[in-house]
Amino acid sequence: TIQLQNLRKEFDDVVAVDGIDLTIEDGEFLVIVGPSGCGKSTTLRLLAGLEQATAGRIGMDDRDVTSTEPKNRNVAMVFQNYALYPHMTGRRNITFGMKSAGAFTDDEIDQRVEDAAETLDITELLERKPEAMSGGERQRIALGRAIVRDPDAFLMDEPLSNLDAKLRIQMRAELTRLHAELQTTTVYVTHDQTEAMTLGERVVVMNDGQIMQVDSPQALYDFPENRFVAEFIGDPA
Ligand code: ATP
Ligand code: MG
Repeated sequence: TIQLQNLRKEFDDVVAVDGIDLTIEDGEFLVIVGPSGCGKSTTLRLLAGLEQATAGRIGMDDRDVTSTEPKNRNVAMVFQNYALYPHMTGRRNITFGMKSAGAFTDDEIDQRVEDAAETLDITELLERKPEAMSGGERQRIALGRAIVRDPDAFLMDEPLSNLDAKLRIQMRAELTRLHAELQTTTVYVTHDQTEAMTLGERVVVMNDGQIMQVDSPQALYDFPENRFVAEFIGDPA
């Protein structure tokens, strides 16, 4: 499990995350949803270790990782803009940094790439560079980079928002299938209510740096705990 306790992040005079308490269960698909600027990305970046908390605590399996370097957290981040290296092939993008990390032998890395490529149906993209890939194909390579490391958790920040509507819906189904197969804990950030309700086993509704409600999609519809949740969930963008 991942535990956030009274987590807080300030940037100068902005309180981006304002005292969050949340337990993320092993293997669950948790979606964080809320309007622009409510602190979703900051929360995810705190989980990844890309930002340092101003106060509070992050625990991963009883380990206090609040001040731990990203590389020592065993989580894999997937970004909206894919963050691929343009001069590297798909394969190199997927494996970049794995050799130097030393956790896997060359043979293990090759095998893992084969497995990930099969799971994501990207075998034919491995020797291509990103410029010769569509947006959806680039995002699959970015997912490959995450799953090849077999992390304890995937942290995904609006990974589908650069895709057109049709592909986005297709990739949602793909992510659900992937999660059913791998059962890896996933924290997925979006500002899109429909996406949150489609993907999330549990959904965290955030506003203004705080958690408004955590519940199943159905419970958020049926029993919103406050006006914000009722209006945000009931009003698809
Ligand atoms: P969006 O849906 O637009 O991506 P978000 O929910 O991800 O929004 P955050 O990026 O977490 O929102 O930002 C939360 C608040 O913190 C915003 O007011 C933002 O301007 C501020 N913020 C985020 N990062 C920084 C930074 N590096 N320096 C200063 N302020 C920041
Ligand atoms: Mg964001």
